[in-house]
Amino acid sequence: MRNFFFRSLLALSLIASPLPNMRAVATDFTIVLDPGHGGKDHGAIDNSAREKDINLSVARRLGEKLKKKLKGVKVVYTRDDDTFLSLQERAAVANESKGDLFVSIHTNSVDEKNKNRKNVAGASVYVLGLHKDGNNMEVARRENSVIEYEKDFKTKYSGFDPLRDESYIIFEMAQKSNLSRSFSFAEKAQKHLVGVAGRKDRGVHQAGFWVLWATCMPAVLVELDFICNPESAAFMTSEEGVDSMADAIFKAVKEYREECE
Ligand SMILES: [Zn+2]
Repeated sequence: MRNFFFRSLLALSLIASPLPNMRAVATDFTIVLDPGHGGKDHGAIDNSAREKDINLSVARRLGEKLKKKLKGVKVVYTRDDDTFLSLQERAAVANESKGDLFVSIHTNSVDEKNKNRKNVAGASVYVLGLHKDGNNMEVARRENSVIEYEKDFKTKYSGFDPLRDESYIIFEMAQKSNLSRSFSFAEKAQKHLVGVAGRKDRGVHQAGFWVLWATCMPAVLVELDFICNPESAAFMTSEEGVDSMADAIFKAVKEYREECE
C-alpha cells in the first residue's frame, strides 16, 4: 500500500514537473517579420530607391531590436536577404513557425499618372478585410500582383486573380478569429509610426492582401510611407529613418505582447 502511495506520488510529480517548463514555453512569443518583395521582384522603384531594400532594412533593424531588448521573443524572417519568395512561401514560413504575430513590411506608391505622387505621404497599417474604398483596393492589388510572377498562379492560388474585384470578396470571412488582435496591433503600430517615426497619419484600414489571408495568426501589413515622394524616399533610405521606423514597430510589439500576457 505504502509502495503504491509512493509510486503514485512519483507518477504525480512526473506529470507535474513539466509544468514550470510549459509555463516558460507559453510566455514565449514568436514574431514573423516579412520584408515584402525581394530578388527579381523589386516592388516599387522611385527616387533612386527600391522598395525591397527599404522593407528589408527596416525588418532587419526591427529584428535586431526585438532580439536585444525583449526577452523570450523569437524572431523568424520570411527572408533576411535579397531573395525572391512567393506569397505562398511567406505564409508557409509563418504557419510552420506557429507565429503569434505576422508583420509584413512594405513601402507604398501610387501610379505614374497620379499628379499628386510627389506630395502623397504617410504611413498606414492594414488588416485583412474587404476594402472600403478604391484606394485601399489599389494598395492590395499592387502588393498581391507578385503572384503574377508565378507561371501557374491561378491553380496555386485557388483561382485568386489579383486583377478581378470578385477575388477580394473571399477575404471577407477569412481570419475572423484573429481580426480583433490584428486590429489591436495595427492601431499600436500606426500610433508609433506617427508619434515615433514622424510619419503622416493615413490610418488603419482593411483590404484583401493574400499574405494576410493565408497566415493563421494575427497579421498586419505595414505601408511605411510613399517611395514616390522624394522627401519620404530620402527618409526611408536614411539611417535615421530606418531606425525610427523600426523603433516605432518595436514599441508596438512590446505593448501588444504585454497586452497578450
Ligand atoms: Zn510592397
